[in-house]
Amino acid sequence: HAKQEGRNGWAVWRPEMSGIFTTDPGFHKDLNLALERQQFELWYQPLYLAERHEIHGFEALLRWNHPEKGVLAPNAFLPTLEKTGLIIPVGVWAIEQACRQLRFWTDQGFHHWTLSYNLSAVQFEQPDIFEVITRTLAKYDLAPSRLILEVTESTALKNLECSIELLNAFSHAGFTISLDDFGTGYSNLLMLSVLPARELKIDKSFIASMPESDKSRKIVLTIINVARSLEMKVVAEGIENEDQKAMLIEMDCDYLQGYLFSRPIPASQVPWRVLQDKSDRQIIAPAVTEYS
Ligand code: C2E
Ligand code: MG
Ligand code: MG
Ligand code: MG
Repeated sequence: HAKQEGRNGWAVWRPEMSGIFTTDPGFHKDLNLALERQQFELWYQPLYLAERHEIHGFEALLRWNHPEKGVLAPNAFLPTLEKTGLIIPVGVWAIEQACRQLRFWTDQGFHHWTLSYNLSAVQFEQPDIFEVITRTLAKYDLAPSRLILEVTESTALKNLECSIELLNAFSHAGFTISLDDFGTGYSNLLMLSVLPARELKIDKSFIASMPESDKSRKIVLTIINVARSLEMKVVAEGIENEDQKAMLIEMDCDYLQGYLFSRPIPASQVPWRVLQDKSDRQIIAPAVTEYS
């Protein structure tokens, strides 16, 4: 993993690489101070319009730039952020950061780009979550249609009544709700029927086994067809090779996301890469491999 991702020293540490870190007594203290020490970053991964090689928007993904360990991916620290409730201030920071970034890109001429923001279950219990998000968008003069709120089925299931109410409020306010990691939860079809989701993200585990597995291919096609009949958009995440891409285009998937196109990259890299492209209308960012 480290070797694969770690070109130019930008390795992202993942907990499966070592068990030492989370049992480190300094871990909680470090994580507690990470926000005020400005060690969190949002990295961005593009979502492409299928076939057209054109950027549709970006998903904001949290990173912890640890002074000794380097850049850490969320599975190293997100569970602790959630357990301690720290995800609430971090989430507030993240929405502010994401909106400021989208404002900046918009001012650079990327008026149509959307921004996908991941919401965790703990944030659903934050009483002012709706106000915080709507206020922050307004502060940066961004329409709610620019923001896609990604929730997983398990997040929604934690308290289904409240989730429905909150997501309906977001939906009525013009936000797009996206069902993340679709297919991995326990009640996929229930979620589709009760949540006001307009987008569905097929979990990357299905994509990973797709070229070889006939079953996975059929499941993905079925998910796309269900989404179609519900007039939802479909995103495939975790696309790593051309075969997967070709199959998903053939299946009429709307948006594509994965290492094949670009890994998540720091914000500072985004306009630089996009603007490098010479064509006026088609925005093609070259595949980024040196960042994880
Ligand atoms: P997710 O929302 O399902 O995000 C997709 C994950 O897949 C990201 O992992 C991304 O880096 C990774 N990915 C993208 N393309 C590929 C690919 O082609 N192959 C493979 N193997 N992986 C790919 P990441 O960044 O480690 O994030 C993990 C999870 O952490 C996210 O899953 C999301 O649930 C959560 N997360 C990330 N940022 C935030 C945040 O700001 N707030 C909250 N609440 N959760 C976040
Ligand atoms: Mg997501
Ligand atoms: Mg996902
Ligand atoms: Mg996930």
